[in-house]
Amino acid sequence: MRLRPGFEVFWRQPGVSQLGIDPRCAIVLEGLSDAEQRLVEEVPRALDASILRERGNQLGLPSRQIQRLVERLRSANLLTDRPHGCDVGPDAAYWHRAAVCGVERPADRSGTVVEVRGMDRLGLRLALIAAEAGVGTVLVRDGGRVRPEDVSPGLYHPRDVGHPRERVALSILRTAAPHLRVSAPEGVRPDLVVLVHRDVVDPVPVRALMREDVTHLCVVVGELGLTVGPLVRPGLSVCTRCLDLYRCEHDDRWPAVATQAAARVPAGPETSLAWAGAALAAQMLLAHADGRKVLVDGSTLELTAWEPVPVERRWHPHPECGCTSATLVRAHD
Ligand SMILES: [Zn+2]
Repeated sequence: MRLRPGFEVFWRQPGVSQLGIDPRCAIVLEGLSDAEQRLVEEVPRALDASILRERGNQLGLPSRQIQRLVERLRSANLLTDRPHGCDVGPDAAYWHRAAVCGVERPADRSGTVVEVRGMDRLGLRLALIAAEAGVGTVLVRDGGRVRPEDVSPGLYHPRDVGHPRERVALSILRTAAPHLRVSAPEGVRPDLVVLVHRDVVDPVPVRALMREDVTHLCVVVGELGLTVGPLVRPGLSVCTRCLDLYRCEHDDRWPAVATQAAARVPAGPETSLAWAGAALAAQMLLAHADGRKVLVDGSTLELTAWEPVPVERRWHPHPECGCTSATLVRAHD
């Protein structure tokens, strides 16, 4: 039993100390004696409660007072049973702090399999974030070649231009995350497939994902904005065809335009949008992997380079789509 990593002690005034800063996870300990306040200072370095008791005894504190302090920390959920050394790094510290305010810590992500399709710099950055955040297997798919607009510091190099993007992306991933698995045994379905598209979502691969019951997340880079979502859980939530049908209600020639848009070679995303989109998609990907609430479950988040705070749009299954049992019922009413 030791203090959760990620908490530091702050002196407020004689007799009053504080652990943590954010009011959602911090606690203030008042009415401390000099010796207690000194003991509190040592809490982050105490590897278990017995070391804390031993140090308290050295400071002349009776066992009862030490126990009271330990109980105070325990009741604030600031103590953990996880052994020292197993939670290292900023992510572990962050999720320990989140646990104190009621958000469950992610389970081990090493068994998670994620596939990212579309290895422009947004897609590659997303794959790298997933790897950095502990996702065990990241598969990448891309049928194109590295273009000049893909070149980006730390990602594609000018000498990569013209080479197969999937192969170069794999090499970058392997170098950045040597323990990452970049292939999965045959028959293993990804927990999530992320589709990075320009302007329109290609319906052909989406149909296959729907048929195979694979959850997928769409990231669409538009001419002015970027859309993350929806998270499509086949048969259970709004799908990309639903969104297309809604668009057709406002523009009956949209299918003709969309077909042409899908066939051309797309340009790369604007720089700040590429990174914001990768970060936003990564948050959704990790939330799905962890079993937490995903903001784009039935929604899309839209942002532009000049309005980076996302606008959320909620969608219901289109009555003519038939992708969920709800729409089937409605369609046959
Ligand atoms: Zn649908």
